[in-house]
Amino acid sequence: MSTRETSDDATGAHDYGDFEPVIGLEVHAQMLTESKLFCGCSAKFGAAPNAHTCPVCMGMPGVLPVLNRRALELALRTALATGCEVPPVARWARKNYFYPDLPKGYQISMYEAPLAVGGGVTIETPAGEKRIRLTRIHMEEDAGKSIHDAHDEASLVDLNRAGVPLMEIVSEPDLRSPSEASAYLRALRAVLTYLGACDGNMEEGSMRCDANVSIRRRGATELGTRTEIKNMNSFRSVERAIDFEIRRQIDVVASGGRIVQETRLWDADRGLTAPMRSKEEAHDYRYFPEPDLLPLRVERELLDALREDLPELPVARRERFVRDYGIPPYDAEVLTARRDVADYFEAAVAAHANAKSISNWVMGDILRLVRERRLDDALVITEWPVAPQALAKLVALIDDGTISGKIAKTVFEEMVASGREPADIVAAKGLTQVTDTGAIAQAIDGVLAQHGEKVAEFRAGKDKLFGFFVGQVMKATGGKANPQAVNEILRAKLAG
Ligand SMILES: [Zn+2]
Repeated sequence: MSTRETSDDATGAHDYGDFEPVIGLEVHAQMLTESKLFCGCSAKFGAAPNAHTCPVCMGMPGVLPVLNRRALELALRTALATGCEVPPVARWARKNYFYPDLPKGYQISMYEAPLAVGGGVTIETPAGEKRIRLTRIHMEEDAGKSIHDAHDEASLVDLNRAGVPLMEIVSEPDLRSPSEASAYLRALRAVLTYLGACDGNMEEGSMRCDANVSIRRRGATELGTRTEIKNMNSFRSVERAIDFEIRRQIDVVASGGRIVQETRLWDADRGLTAPMRSKEEAHDYRYFPEPDLLPLRVERELLDALREDLPELPVARRERFVRDYGIPPYDAEVLTARRDVADYFEAAVAAHANAKSISNWVMGDILRLVRERRLDDALVITEWPVAPQALAKLVALIDDGTISGKIAKTVFEEMVASGREPADIVAAKGLTQVTDTGAIAQAIDGVLAQHGEKVAEFRAGKDKLFGFFVGQVMKATGGKANPQAVNEILRAKLAG
């Protein structure tokens, strides 16, 4: 999970009254391969237009596609990690349509015999865990890109993306709210990134999502007429677009209308979905078997080897964090949403065994800096603001009473700025906590002498003033007084 997106729910409580939404998602994930699906061209983004092209991906006559084995392995890893069944034979199919950025006039995809079927992804809901079933996973090549606004008189075409390997992951219509849809996408992205199968970046389009949305009366079992929503490029867009579409459909039905089966585009600026022009959605793909590629026979030995090689996946890791470190499920979920964040946390805890405190620092200050510096844009965060071992040392200084939690914030900022060791910063700046009760008592005497009236008010029953005295003592000691000692001595002196 990119830590920048929040699961805050700007769309309200998702209360749809008598109606129940039924949602299924189709996710296109770009696989993390060096080269394209059927040729040796680079699959990297960001090159000059058409720099990564060859006769195969430009669709020249007489060329033959050759399957990228790495792409197949990544798709199979995903299938295994989500519990899919991999049939012995998958078949490639041509998906025909005309568009300027598709020079062949078809995409190579899979249709009747996909790579994998069944399986599922587990999400957390307020009511507990829920398994969202998958219909299928298949592989296909991406199309190119038309650029309409770069030139006054013509549209331009960039084929760098043509032939880039995609996985299409289709869910059953098991989702019942926009927040479940978003939770599913996050869970799926966590799996894909743990596997190294996709970088999961929705803003840059390496993970794209279409939603099938319908509504029905609560208690009904038949499915209503669905619409397909496209053009959502963030988790927030997915939630907002689906919520809008559900409400739109409820309005139509409530006012006696009928839902039309159509494709609608999410317009994030206007906050609504609008129908695609019918010309654009008049799809009849006329799928037929791809004659240039043999049926894909997946060897059982390959599957076994890939299964052996699967990493620990997010759900298992989350459960282990709760069990072994004793941290709350919420912490475990945040920490395991990204593999690199989970690795960071474990490295820090290995250096100093205070899991809850380290979890607080990681979820708070560390992830805040990661977001601010946009480090979470990378597939793997390597440039942490503070090394995990250094964070562990800081927490150890708090735990052994050397510094207070408040001073630790100052030390942390200095660690970020200078990269110095926390103990060196504490020594150089004289930040060691004052635990000498004599010195604390002296500071308290000073404060009480200075605020005689308030002392009288406190003794007359105004208990709330206690916090004021604590604040004054902390101020007088530069925040270095041990808070527990301050509390105890202050209570005693005020009582006396
Ligand atoms: Zn090529």
